[in-house]
Amino acid sequence: MKDYYKILGISKDASSEEIKKAFFRLAQRYHPDKGGNPEKFKEINEAYQILGDKEKRAQYDRFGTVFEEAPFGARRGETPFSEGFDFFSFGKDFDTSVFEEIFEDFFGAAPFARERTSKRKRGRDIFVDIKISLEETFTGVKKEISLEKFTTCSRCKGNGTEPGTRLKTCPSCRGAGKVKEIHQTFLGTFTRANVCPQCQGFGRIPEKNCSKCHGEGRIKEEKKSVVSIPAGISDKERILIAGEGEAGEKGQNSGNLYVRVYVMEHPYFVRRGDDIYFNFDVNFSQATLGDKIDIPTLAGKVGLQIPSGTQAGKLLRLKGMGIPHLNRRGKGDMYVKINVRTPQKLTKKQKELIKRLKEEGI
Ligand SMILES: [Zn+2]
Ligand SMILES: [Zn+2]
Repeated sequence: MKDYYKILGISKDASSEEIKKAFFRLAQRYHPDKGGNPEKFKEINEAYQILGDKEKRAQYDRFGTVFEEAPFGARRGETPFSEGFDFFSFGKDFDTSVFEEIFEDFFGAAPFARERTSKRKRGRDIFVDIKISLEETFTGVKKEISLEKFTTCSRCKGNGTEPGTRLKTCPSCRGAGKVKEIHQTFLGTFTRANVCPQCQGFGRIPEKNCSKCHGEGRIKEEKKSVVSIPAGISDKERILIAGEGEAGEKGQNSGNLYVRVYVMEHPYFVRRGDDIYFNFDVNFSQATLGDKIDIPTLAGKVGLQIPSGTQAGKLLRLKGMGIPHLNRRGKGDMYVKINVRTPQKLTKKQKELIKRLKEEGI
């Protein structure tokens, strides 16, 4: 008859947190590698296997020592400490999650995650900045940039093998693509399968490396890329060009190219959203009587009718003369803000005329 609560030195109403802590403390104290008693260690583990599992604990609480009669015979694979001393040399199908949980509780991170799946890295991403003018956001523009980056080797097409030679089984992992890594911790020795560093998980390596790239599958060189910047792009917007980053090693996927677009300030147009604002000065007489004027727009000069009696500060709208919308049809508008110039230096004749106006109540 085993009292698992007694073994872990906890009360029957201990929380799962307390159970974990008790197990952790005792596992350290009784670990055989640290001169502890293996029998005792095995017992502690057994207790934890039951009490640390909600369902098993409930069964145990209900049926008492029932488990002792048939101690998880069918589930032996789940009990890591059941076979003498090779406690932590578990096979591939051993579930380390219980230990990860404990480690996470105590250290905030698990030192041995479950088998690392994909360690194969694609090429690096590249980030560049491009400056464009406001006019270029109106039309869209193609910019050529030159980047020094890893590109796929033209001789071996990226696989790192000298043309005409073959691949052979990787000697490091014997073709498995994975190698075991052994970790020593105070709880014992853990093994973990990692992607083989020699073949990057392929299981095969070239018989003879490519003479141009020395087997890397890529070479560093200056390469031009053309970046298509669409009309309507906004300042600081980013464009992703998939696969234009650095080539990965041995034919692995390329990274991406990210282009950050900076739209330079314009000497007289101001952009707000997709609308363009423009200040235009008119004379008092033009504002009063109305006039037809030429104003600059992003599409060139256009004629604009100033209505008679236009007040200072009036916004005149030129529909569809703004920046094209990036993700939908149509364009923003252009707003012309009318400033009325007050004359400062007048000739004698002008002064006379203004005086006459004044007398007329204007
Ligand atoms: Zn090559
Ligand atoms: Zn290998």
